[in-house]
Amino acid sequence: MPTPTALTLDISGSRAMLALVSAAGELTDVTEVRNVTYNAAEYWPAILDAAAALAVSAQPRSELVGVGVSFGGPVDRDGNVISVHVPGWAGVDVGGGLSARLGLPAKVENDANCGALGEYWFGHWGQVHTIVFMTCSTGIGSGIVSDGWLFKGARGLAGEVGHNTVNPLGRPCVCGSRGCLERQCSGSAMGERSGLPHAKALFDAVASGDEQARAVLEAIFEDYGRGIAAVQHAYDPDLITIGGGVSLAGAALTRPVAEQARRWMMRERREHLRLEPASLGLHSQLYGAAALVLEPRR
Ligand SMILES: [Zn+2]
Repeated sequence: MPTPTALTLDISGSRAMLALVSAAGELTDVTEVRNVTYNAAEYWPAILDAAAALAVSAQPRSELVGVGVSFGGPVDRDGNVISVHVPGWAGVDVGGGLSARLGLPAKVENDANCGALGEYWFGHWGQVHTIVFMTCSTGIGSGIVSDGWLFKGARGLAGEVGHNTVNPLGRPCVCGSRGCLERQCSGSAMGERSGLPHAKALFDAVASGDEQARAVLEAIFEDYGRGIAAVQHAYDPDLITIGGGVSLAGAALTRPVAEQARRWMMRERREHLRLEPASLGLHSQLYGAAALVLEPRR
């Protein structure tokens, strides 16, 4: 008997991951499309081809019920992508294009929201009511799921905590503000503030005893902590989980950031804060995109 299965995509600026996720929570057949030219005019058709090939290979062992897409940029309430992070995306009907090509219903959601859905429905957390998922890679974004519902906001733009100011003396941000969480603490910011090529190099330098790197990272943790404290106060989640490339640092990231966050929290709520790396690693968004079409139940 074929299992109800979603074909899922996680589209970011640099690469798209595709996979199958069954209703039982099995993730298989992970493939990748690299964005070589940084132009959606070539990237998007390559993604469509890969999705069509995956759909063919999935049958007859799986019953494909739909296509779920995690998109690395803003998505409005109707599922339209409104991102300009890669040239050529403007006006591309991501859901409609996939639906027409594969003959299946398709749903599109922002990547941070998908991460939250993935961790809520498929994460290894036991019983939880409210989860905040925060990406940390090139930028910082967040998604909130409470009692099974994705919190979207009036325009579908809720969770943009990456542009909360965490340091008024911080660096100017492209958004027009200054000292935004994203500008101070994203993977890109970690690289820039330390003068090292990327966040991993910074963590490695600290691990090998580089005192200058340690001072930079501690300043980053302090800014990060202020951002986390605001999120904890706003949503009172069971846990905040960090995904994206920087989360691979694990407890070397979450433990000191949680310690800093508690300094900026209401005294009696400090013990409520639980900050953890994503339980699904770099696959939270693929799982969450599946939840868009599988209608899982807890
Ligand atoms: Zn900003």
